[in-house]
Amino acid sequence: MNIFSYMENDGYEQLIICQDRPSGLKAIIAIHSTILGPALGGTRMWPYASENEAIEDACRLAKGMTYKSAAAGLDYGGGKAVIIGNPQTDKTESLFRALGRFVESLGGRFITAEDVGTSVDEMNLIRRETDFVCGLSAIPGSSGDPSPVTALGVWKGIRTSAKAVWGSESLAGRTIAVQGVGNVGYPLAKYLHEDGANLVITDIIGDKAKRLSCETGARIVTPDAIYDTPCDIFVPAALGAVINDNTLPRFRCRIIAGPANNQLADSRHGDRLHNQGILYAPDYIINAGGVINVADELKDNYNHERALRAVEIIPRNLAAIFSASQHDNIPTHKLADQLAENRIAAIGKIKSIFLPQR
Ligand code: NAD
Repeated sequence: MNIFSYMENDGYEQLIICQDRPSGLKAIIAIHSTILGPALGGTRMWPYASENEAIEDACRLAKGMTYKSAAAGLDYGGGKAVIIGNPQTDKTESLFRALGRFVESLGGRFITAEDVGTSVDEMNLIRRETDFVCGLSAIPGSSGDPSPVTALGVWKGIRTSAKAVWGSESLAGRTIAVQGVGNVGYPLAKYLHEDGANLVITDIIGDKAKRLSCETGARIVTPDAIYDTPCDIFVPAALGAVINDNTLPRFRCRIIAGPANNQLADSRHGDRLHNQGILYAPDYIINAGGVINVADELKDNYNHERALRAVEIIPRNLAAIFSASQHDNIPTHKLADQLAENRIAAIGKIKSIFLPQR
């Protein structure tokens, strides 16, 4: 991997490789952009097969965060931390406190929160070493786990997607396939069930799927079979890159809309979805509820009602993107990028106005 040309291509500001022998920490912090504000992004823990895979994941996720915050109207840039390790077996207090010390060393250029493989518990450990962490529990004014608000935003976005395709937000009688029923997928599936949708679900952890099936009557399929399931809406709620050369011919849905980050393996897969007549709700637009929620905590004391009001930008952004896509025949993922890039350019320019020192 040629790191400098990789960073230059996509405009990454900084890549920090963190090693701490006493705790065994091996982590990467990627800062994509701080034009709009400090780089905000979760800490993921995953047993990456190689160092390059971990670096690439951190970078792709950090860039996604830049676009997500920009499009959601927040004054934050994009960053991400990834820890190389198995979240089931490798979590220790010292590991997360070591990461917290690296985060502290960046002086506020990067602020972290939970992501796949980490939870509020680990954020509380990081907090013992740095203030630059959010989504905590047991601290007055803190926002806690962002997943329920992410699920709420995705649910609103799915209803907006349904309206764009069928003229009505109603999901009653629609068949919806949910891939992954974890922290976001589970509450999201409950909303969809309450709306009268017929659920088809899958998860690599069978017990999670069984629990949801008992509660909602959802039909369970194997993780691989979910792609071939005839449905109205396919909801990626596990990991990224699930829209790729292998899966594109298999989708039998009219809409793809879900919380997973980086759903398109490559931008050209978004073009193909458009040509196949599948409406794609761009991932970082529809899944912004979590970052909107933690950003509220960073303003001053967290206010849940205020955060929920801010989540309304998700259906508004999607409705604008869908309408422009239909009008100008442009794939939705390209319009989402334009929305984010235009805001970064416009707000970036006013940063040149001189401010006296406070
Ligand atoms: P999670 O780890 O709690 O849930 C993911 C679930 O997917 C797990 O139950 C896991 O067993 C399952 N899974 C993994 N691989 C699978 C596969 N191949 N097939 C079927 N199931 C599989 O994570 P989460 O917090 O619910 O996040 C889900 C996705 O949403 C991730 O891509 C995450 O980056 C994204 N996201 C989460 C938030 C948030 O607030 N938690 C915010 C924005 C985006």
